[in-house]
Amino acid sequence: MPEVRTPQMFVDGAFVDAASDATFDSVNPATEEVVARLAVAGERDVDRAVDAARAALDGPWGNTGPRERQRLLMRLAGLVLDNAEELAQLDTAEVGIPIARSRGLAMASAGLLEWYAALSRTVRGATIENNRPADLISSTLRQPIGVVGAITPWNTPLPMMMWKLGPVLATGSTLVHKPAEISSLSALRMAELCIEAGVPDGVVNVVTGNGGTGALLAEHRGVDKIAFTGSVATGQAIVRASAGNLKRLTMELGGKSPSIVFADADLDRAAASVARSIFDNSGQVCVAGSRLLVQDDVHDEFVDRVAEHARALRVGDPLADGTDMGPVASKAQWEKVKDFVAGALEDGAELTTGGGGAGQEKGYYVEPTVLTGVANHSRLAQGEVFGPVLGVTRFSTLDDAVALANGTDFGLSSYVWTTNMSTANTMVRRIKAGIVQVNTIEGLDPAVPVGGHGMSGYGKELGLEQLDEYLSTKSVWTAR
Ligand code: ADP
Repeated sequence: MPEVRTPQMFVDGAFVDAASDATFDSVNPATEEVVARLAVAGERDVDRAVDAARAALDGPWGNTGPRERQRLLMRLAGLVLDNAEELAQLDTAEVGIPIARSRGLAMASAGLLEWYAALSRTVRGATIENNRPADLISSTLRQPIGVVGAITPWNTPLPMMMWKLGPVLATGSTLVHKPAEISSLSALRMAELCIEAGVPDGVVNVVTGNGGTGALLAEHRGVDKIAFTGSVATGQAIVRASAGNLKRLTMELGGKSPSIVFADADLDRAAASVARSIFDNSGQVCVAGSRLLVQDDVHDEFVDRVAEHARALRVGDPLADGTDMGPVASKAQWEKVKDFVAGALEDGAELTTGGGGAGQEKGYYVEPTVLTGVANHSRLAQGEVFGPVLGVTRFSTLDDAVALANGTDFGLSSYVWTTNMSTANTMVRRIKAGIVQVNTIEGLDPAVPVGGHGMSGYGKELGLEQLDEYLSTKSVWTAR
């Protein structure tokens, strides 16, 4: 069990007591034991963190060059590697991610910081030909966006923080981060590691708390941008709250991403990947392949294969070696998942496998679940469960597959399984989503942008594209 050193927030380079008396408990979803008591930061606390971030922006940090920022990011990446075990243990204790996966995520987080270190050297404007008198030179200057409020979810706490912390440090902005209430400890530890890496006080601040704390950040006049990852409803609330000072926004919201399996696909490979894409991390992944669309001819055979993979998964203690799937992250999430399954059965879906708890006496476990006969207008096909629940719908023609794939409000990711190049190319063009993967689910790299279409949000993370979200462009005219 990690050391508990809360309720405190991290502001201006140090742990500080919150002005607010309110607290909440973070609970280990595998044991139902309290891991830590944390502060619910209130208005004065958020003000204090935003003031620290503003002062840091106006101080020497504002003049730090790209090489210095690159070095800081590389040092921080090294510290994440040095402390990977502790960071992994914190995330596993709070959200139940199997420990081997948490360790992998900590390693990947260091890799993300290395990417952002490189990115810090690529900020550039342009000189632009113009039609004004010949002695006028026009150019663009790209400057840090300012104070960034990051509001993140609990599904993979550490990398989600890196996706915001990295571009903040790469561009010379400053950060007030509000991690999800149930997963704050790795963020607090990261703030400490930033100081160890040499990041100046006030550049990285972490306030703990609930949705109310997030809302304070979203409406704060001293915040220039909100970088949000989470649910659609919360994203919409943030859009509304941010209107007061017209903050810049990036919205990485939910998904209901389809795996689309054509009859000519390599069914063995597809079945293993389809199962992983919904059951890894107990389905709590924004790009999870939570809908399976299968062509008629292979429907029954393919569903059987996926169900076999589901039944073979070892569900249990996230700290035990060999566990494939831990619990879902909280009691609230557990209730929500069970409710979705019950609703799907009422709507006429049939249970192929799973549907219950996984037999543990304690903890918020859900069996890997596959439901067939899911109508596309049903709640299961349209709503983000964020749990290990796969809904299966059959299709006949390519046009049917396209209509089903595009038949939700979301548009985050999609996975096409076919050996026919023409089918693959047609699907790539016609699917409305920010990501299309063909015959794979492995497509994730810091250099390649991630972001949704439709109600999955807007603004890109990762890739060179992410820089644009963290920079302001100033047009500069100069006469001789
Ligand atoms: P989930 O329902 O999966 O927890 P949310 O979108 O509610 O997803 O949570 C993602 C993040 O948004 C968390 O850090 C949460 O505290 C925060 N949050 C929740 N409600 C609000 C709100 N009204 N304004 C700002 N942030 C919020």
